[in-house]
Amino acid sequence: MTNGVVTRFAPSPTGFLHIGGARTALFNWLYSRGRGGRMLLRIEDTDRERSTPEAVEAIIEGLKWMGLDADGEPVSQFENAARHREVAEELLAKGQAYKCYASQEELAEMRERAKAEKRAPRYDGRWRDRDPSEAPEGVDPVIRLKAPLDGETVVDDKVQGRVVFNNKELDDFVLLRSDGSPTYMLAVVVDDHDMGVTHIIRGDDHLTNGARQTLIYKALGWDVPVMAHIPLIHGPDGAKLSKRHGALGIEAYRAMGFLPVALRNYLVRLGWAHGDDELMSTEDMIAWFDVGDINKGAARFDFKKLEALNG
Ligand code: GLU
Repeated sequence: MTNGVVTRFAPSPTGFLHIGGARTALFNWLYSRGRGGRMLLRIEDTDRERSTPEAVEAIIEGLKWMGLDADGEPVSQFENAARHREVAEELLAKGQAYKCYASQEELAEMRERAKAEKRAPRYDGRWRDRDPSEAPEGVDPVIRLKAPLDGETVVDDKVQGRVVFNNKELDDFVLLRSDGSPTYMLAVVVDDHDMGVTHIIRGDDHLTNGARQTLIYKALGWDVPVMAHIPLIHGPDGAKLSKRHGALGIEAYRAMGFLPVALRNYLVRLGWAHGDDELMSTEDMIAWFDVGDINKGAARFDFKKLEALNG
């Protein structure tokens, strides 16, 4: 029996499993394991050009080596495309979404205007209430969400606290592209809902997406999962983690001879700690971990220190 907690790790298979992804997976795994719940694995392979089977393999292999076993078979997001389209059509039928025929030139103009006015680009809603009979011939439309024009959208985040977004900043974003393929925004909501995900634990670069996704959940009348957006990992110089900060792939540490338990101990402390405990058994980690205790500030990854541990 589980208490119903379902987390997920949802990597895009465009490269190996890196330090940041492994920590996200670890947090999801600990949270679900500590609550008798499940952690699911979803491969976000909708970007056909950048996704590779080798990366899928490397991610699954890396998780396995780290001891972060997912429940059930990995889900391929790409294979759910028909379901994503169905939900976009449902929103259309309910009047919560609309077809937009704006041309690339019109969209470029909107971007230019935003630049001149020194603000973030926003779609101006020109097809929101337009009669579909005015649709230009031979143009395949995109489907956009009819987002609220006023008010606020709140993400009650377990790490970031109560984050309030002005709905004016969240425009009528695209759900379905003109070729019928779903955007990340739609695909994530539909998959998380269909997989029964109750807790979304991911990097805080997705916080604004969290607000946009909340709008989709509301339009569909679905329960919004609990969200916990964890600060990204930075290098010792304070800059966002990148290749120049050292080996980022899990298999590099595996090749150096690190034990998975040591790496788990190191990674869990990138943003979370339990008192002064320096080393934790996996059982203790599972018992003690909670997303509510994750630091709001960026964690620093000091690869030199980590690699020096190995002598
Ligand atoms: N696939 C996304 C990424 O790798 C994560 C999406 C999510 O967790 O919602 O950044």
